[in-house]
Parts: sequence; structure tokens; C-alpha cells
Amino acid sequence: MANAPENVPLLNINRDNRPHREEFIEALTSVVDSGRFLFGPDVAELEREVAAYSQVENAVGCASGSDALLLSLMSLGIGPGDEVIVPSFTFFASVSCITRLGATPVFVDIRPDTFNVDPEKIKAAITENTRAIIPVHLFGQCAEIDRICQVAAERDIPVIEDAAQAIGAAYHSRPAGSWGSIGCFSFYPTKNLGGMGDGGMMTTGNAATADRLRLFAGHGMRPRYYHQVVGINSRLDTFQAAILRIKLRHLADAIEARNKIAARYGRLLSENNLVGEDKLAVPTVDPNAFHVWNQYAIRVPGGHRDELRAHLSECGVGSEIYYPVPMHQQECFADLEFDRDALVETERASREVLNLPIFPTLSEREQCRVVDVIAQFFAAGAKVAA
Ligand SMILES: *Cc1c(COP(=O)(O)O)cnc(C)c1O
Repeated sequence: MANAPENVPLLNINRDNRPHREEFIEALTSVVDSGRFLFGPDVAELEREVAAYSQVENAVGCASGSDALLLSLMSLGIGPGDEVIVPSFTFFASVSCITRLGATPVFVDIRPDTFNVDPEKIKAAITENTRAIIPVHLFGQCAEIDRICQVAAERDIPVIEDAAQAIGAAYHSRPAGSWGSIGCFSFYPTKNLGGMGDGGMMTTGNAATADRLRLFAGHGMRPRYYHQVVGINSRLDTFQAAILRIKLRHLADAIEARNKIAARYGRLLSENNLVGEDKLAVPTVDPNAFHVWNQYAIRVPGGHRDELRAHLSECGVGSEIYYPVPMHQQECFADLEFDRDALVETERASREVLNLPIFPTLSEREQCRVVDVIAQFFAAGAKVAA
């Protein structure tokens, strides 16, 4: 081989950001010069822009996606004795917002094809104590949010969309974050609209809900030093908002690049005969969904996932497991009751899922390298078996 095989990172944020560096520096400089580090004009502008982008009337900035979820539940007055339906196959923050308020998470299983929560299982899990449903649009693809909202509406239960991984995604052409009572977004640097630190936003079609979210995000204080409710301090700062406004202008291009990369993985993996019951499964796209590919999640059945990951790592190819331990098996949730038999797909996904490198500036050559290394693994395995 003429060249040493190159390493392929799971993610390269610097490479994605580099083309916009001058714009970033200019925007940050004007925030420095303005002295308005909180509540600067960029924050209100970003709120307007995210609202328009998500096709909702209102958006409220906050300090993180985790706070967006917590504030949403606080604004609904959720507390002890209340049940909130949520998938177990998700990031911790989808669940900790519930337990922090003393409420009880009711875990429901996912669909094996999309990794997203199953609406019929949500319906079956509703009780007279259900106060909210938190569907998660995992990996950048909407859950079946039309059906979920229908099931919720029958019982008048609010839906809080965890769209942390799914800004720009849609279902039946309607944006993530515009379906439920409240949509929650994260601007954590690895998300599709990633800042240079923490940040989050809540979207809602209801002005009174937006007002309440803002109240809770500002210590419940209104007017100054008069506290109506016990809120928290959760703000999106002006530096983040300035960066995010620039990135929002480039988000459509970034999503298009991710879609191309996902399509190319699909093609390369199947051309190399790597898709099959004894090898791996490529992600399923729901025909009603517009997927924004925050993650490219394959399945490796047959107990080979960790070996494949080790092989990728030895060959300098980054990968990750989102998520290795479902929430119902976390140490901190050991006291929660759940029906383990009802979470078989969740547990299987945790054993089989493997996330491959995907970011807008990932090159075709790098993708070919990822697929070559996977092909090597299965070729070696076939030899052992023969
Ligand atoms: C990232 C993420 C969050 C939390 O967002 P932060 O901004 O990191 O607090 C919540 N839910 C899901 C599904 C996420 O991926």
C-alpha cells in the first residue's frame, strides 16, 4: 500500500467549524464589545429564528437541552405521584428531568427498526396518573409523532418532544418540536446545531406556555425580586446565541451533507455484502420521516458488536455506542419499578447498536476506509468459521 491507512475520527468539530471561523470571530467580537453577555440582542434573534425554522410561534432559550426538558416538566407542575412515559433507550437527561421532580418514569420499549419509541406501547402504558409523554427523536429521526400526539390527545396528556438530536428533522413534513406541547432542543457541540458550549431551547405554539417557561427559567421572578414560583436559573448566553445564529444559516447544508453520507454508507455497506443477518443491519428510515442523521446507527447482531468496535479502534476508526446501558438498568434508577419483559427491544438495541463516524465534512475516502475496516473484520471472521 502506497499510503499508510488514515485514521477516521468519530467526529471532527474543528473541521466542520473551520469554514466559518471568520464569521464566528466577528460575531464574538461584537458581543465582547457590546458587554451584553446575557440577554443580548442575538438571544432574542436566535429565538425568533429557531421558532421560524421549527414553524412554531414561540421559542425560549435556556442553558441546555437537559434544562429544556426539566423546565418543560416544571411548567406543567409535574411532581410526586405523577407518571411520565419515556423510552429507556435514550440519553439520561430524558429521564432525570422526571425523577428530579419526584415524578415516576414509566419506561416503554422501542421499535426494533427505527430505535424510536413505539406509540402503541405508549398507549398501553397510560394510566390515570400519566401527566406527560416524552417521545425522543433518536439519532435525528422523528418518532411516530403523529400517532403519539393522537394517543396523547385522546387522554388530554401533554407531549414534550425530546428533539435534542433532531433539529431540522420532520415527520409528514412538519418539523420536530412543532408537534407536542413543547419541543426541547440541545445546542451541545456534537448536536446538529452545536454551539461552543452548552445551550438549549424550547419551542411551543402556545404563548402562555412560552411565558411560563420563561418565568421558570428566570427563578420564577416577576417583577424583579418578586418570585411567583420556584424556578431555576437557566439562560442561553449571548456568545452561544451569536455562534448559533451563524450555524443556523448553514444548518440546511450540514443536514444535506449528513444525508449524503448516510446514503453512501448504505450503498457501500451493501455493495460490500456486509448487510445481512449474520453481519450487520443498516438504519431504517421511516418513509414519513425526514431524517437529519445526528447519528448513523448500525446493528451488529450475534454478539460481535464489541469485537467489531475493538477492531475499528485498532485500525484507527472512531465509533461509539449510544447507548450501552438502558435507563432502566442504571444504578441511580435501581429503585424504579419496571417490567423487564416489556423492554426486550431496548436491551437488545443496547447490545447491538454501534454508531459510525458521521459529520458534515467526513470525506468519501474516509467513509470508504470505515467500510473497508468493517469488511476486513467480517472476512477474518468468515475464515475462522470455515
Ligand atoms: C444531548 C441530549 C439531551 C441533553 O442535552 P444537553 O444540552 O447536553 O443537556 C437530552 N436528550 C437527548 C436525547 C440528547 O441526545
